Amino acid sequence: MTTPRTSTRPQRRDTPQRGQGQWALGYREPLNPNERMKKDADGLTVRQRVLDIYAHTGFGGIDPSDLRGRMRWMGLYTQRAQGIPGGKTAVLEPEELEDSYFMLRVRIDGGQLTSEQLRVIAGISTEFGRDVADVTDRQNVQLHWIRIEDVPEIWRRLEAVGLSTTEACGDTPRVMLNCPLAGILDDEVIDGTPYLQETVDKYIGSPEFSNLPRKWKTSISGCTDHCTGHEINDVSFVGVVNEAGEAGFDLWVGGGLSTNPMLAQRIGVFVRPEQVSDVWAACTSIFRDYGYRRQRNRARIKFLMADWGPEKFRQVLQDEYLKTALPDGPPPAAPRNDQRDHVGVLRQKDGNNALGFALRTGRINGSLLARVADLADRYGAGRVRTTAQQKLVILDVPDDNVEDLVAALTEHDLQVRPSAFRRGTMACTGLEFCKLAIVETKQHAQDLYAELEKRLPDFDTPLSINVNGCPNACARFQTADIGFKGSMVRDDAGEMVEGFQVHLGGHLGVEAAFGRKFRGHKVTKAETADYCERVLRGYVERREAGESFAA
Ligand code: SF4
Repeated sequence: MTTPRTSTRPQRRDTPQRGQGQWALGYREPLNPNERMKKDADGLTVRQRVLDIYAHTGFGGIDPSDLRGRMRWMGLYTQRAQGIPGGKTAVLEPEELEDSYFMLRVRIDGGQLTSEQLRVIAGISTEFGRDVADVTDRQNVQLHWIRIEDVPEIWRRLEAVGLSTTEACGDTPRVMLNCPLAGILDDEVIDGTPYLQETVDKYIGSPEFSNLPRKWKTSISGCTDHCTGHEINDVSFVGVVNEAGEAGFDLWVGGGLSTNPMLAQRIGVFVRPEQVSDVWAACTSIFRDYGYRRQRNRARIKFLMADWGPEKFRQVLQDEYLKTALPDGPPPAAPRNDQRDHVGVLRQKDGNNALGFALRTGRINGSLLARVADLADRYGAGRVRTTAQQKLVILDVPDDNVEDLVAALTEHDLQVRPSAFRRGTMACTGLEFCKLAIVETKQHAQDLYAELEKRLPDFDTPLSINVNGCPNACARFQTADIGFKGSMVRDDAGEMVEGFQVHLGGHLGVEAAFGRKFRGHKVTKAETADYCERVLRGYVERREAGESFAA
């Protein structure tokens, strides 16, 4: 199979008349500053400049196009300066918004960690990152307060245990999602791990895919709960069994949230396990060559898919890139339940147990991550997983150790049996560190679930409350039962204050739909607990037996 970098293809009849900067149509001259930056120097080249130059010059010596551009290719974002209110986000220049520290994203493909790897991340957090760490909803761990001078040593430590920050951010293939219990549960459709690992090994850090039109999010998973959210990834391989009883993958393309949310579409092909990395490379090549590069806000593959549709995508995939036809395949079975987070005590196929537990909306610290690593060694076999819902899982716990581990985790406020509110609440990075944020999120979300636990102590219906600091939807407000999108809103005194636009009724799975925005459903931060209580009490009063919140 080839993955050509085409440059002079004729324009197709059904492509938009005005070129959108697609390389495949001959647009090789950059049409915006980001494309210029990528053409001037490949993003991956920044690594050597960090090692040779910037680690010695310090923050002030970093070339601006590296600082706010290519650093992302190595997982580094400049961090929001402390104390700048959300109302200032849109009016200040980038250099006024940032301080001289970085957020560093460690990619954890498939969410799979050994206790040794976790201990290294923990040590970096405590030694170089002021003991702050976040488990993200894409199975990464993010650290903050990182100085450029410390980055070479941080990379050395990560790479010594097989971890990396390469292409954790930027217009690249980001971390690839997999079920945290892949290979562990009896009832999974297929273990995606070897095919994901093969794809990572072949293509992450390769110049072949280091200049994509935008970010490229992948999921390769055979989880029966669909815990990685294939509906909202750019490209997903979803475990299925075909008519012949053969396990493989159903290909989905074009999901994404942000300000123009779209659900992925089924391409309708059956991908055999050994074909996954080739089909992934072909899909990624289509995005690279045909993706829109004129405007950043139309560059995700969802816009190309909206214009092409799945039939044309399949035709281009097969005819131009794979040079072979793929067989038709079945759709995935409906997920078993709406809770996709693998929290609780789950039986492994080898008779041991996996213990999934809630942090505080993904926020943790290095000291506690080290403690989790110790507990994984003491009560399990040293294997830890991150989930796509900001949770952690310790594997391989024998029956006799389960309650001791539950108690040891609870001692640190890590909950294997959390309340519905704590379990269902996620929050993005928000104003504390994110330069795009309008609203503080992490602490607010923690205060919110604690308040709801007090006000509605008997509420036990699974639900999701996703708190986002701006419209970019990193914590997926469109797919939550109650989604909060950060914005400035007017309070009763007429002042503009931090608050949220509310989106209600979003969900993935059967009849997936985005939450609806109701006119007038804007709340100040101070009003969010009252608002949630009203909505939830209304649900409790009106629900029929067995009716979920989403229904
Ligand atoms: Fe930052 Fe907005 Fe993403 Fe939150 S949703 S992390 S505020 S960009």
